[in-house]
Amino acid sequence: MARTALVNALTIDVEDYFQVSAMAPHVSRSQWDSMPCRVERNVDVILQLLADSGARATFFTLGWVAERYPGIVRRIADGGHELGSHGYAHHRASDQSPEEFLDDVRHAKSVLEDLSGEPVHGYRAPSFSIDESNLWAFDCLLQAGYRYSSSVYPVKHDHYGMPDAPRFAYAAREGLLEIPMTTTRMWRRNLPAGGGGFFRLMPYAMSKWLINRVNTIDRQPALFYFHPWEVDPEQPRVHGSKGRTKFRHYLNLHRTEPRLRRLLADFQWDRVDRVFPGAR
Ligand SMILES: [Zn+2]
Repeated sequence: MARTALVNALTIDVEDYFQVSAMAPHVSRSQWDSMPCRVERNVDVILQLLADSGARATFFTLGWVAERYPGIVRRIADGGHELGSHGYAHHRASDQSPEEFLDDVRHAKSVLEDLSGEPVHGYRAPSFSIDESNLWAFDCLLQAGYRYSSSVYPVKHDHYGMPDAPRFAYAAREGLLEIPMTTTRMWRRNLPAGGGGFFRLMPYAMSKWLINRVNTIDRQPALFYFHPWEVDPEQPRVHGSKGRTKFRHYLNLHRTEPRLRRLLADFQWDRVDRVFPGAR
């Protein structure tokens, strides 16, 4: 199949396997410092994949990770990629007061900017945790100096989602663009088409078909996301995780890297701030 002419945006949420929201009941923040970290090794795997294909991406990075592994931040910037913020310690926006949230997004931004020497314009909320209940978060992001957010998933999901939100980039506030996670419209509802767990769960051909559908029917660039721990089948198992959490986290980890290679070959990818005018 011929490549579509549209350039899509590739994003990576830089956090370690034990920082995932669904693992929070099993690993508290006070334990983070004693966990064996895999994030540096995994980001290096991703940087190599991107270098091999010539693609650029946006890395929404936790301030906590950046402080402990400043080499990651430097290598992301040196590779020509965009550094974005994923907050400091992976608190969901919806679990914070406006004051706490503002502190968190400011702190993360300054840590990332100090380490990289470059301005950070983009923010992604942990677990897409901006919805109709906390739209004040957009005011905080604007106040903290961000130019765009990619924090809304216009789907119904058990952990997140704002199904009635616009499906494509819109001005959440004057001077702040919201670039929602990509969905496709079918059977009168929005279905997720932006990667994450679905990329591992479904056959690759399905992801490819969904992105093509958005590019050709909606004529919009897709926004795709994944995590460093998803390219790491050898990661230590978190004790206590079970049921749906365990299934979602560990399914098909060995398939991510070969699938990403195909995804990088089948579409053109670039950083968010280059794909979406108004994001910088
Ligand atoms: Zn996250």
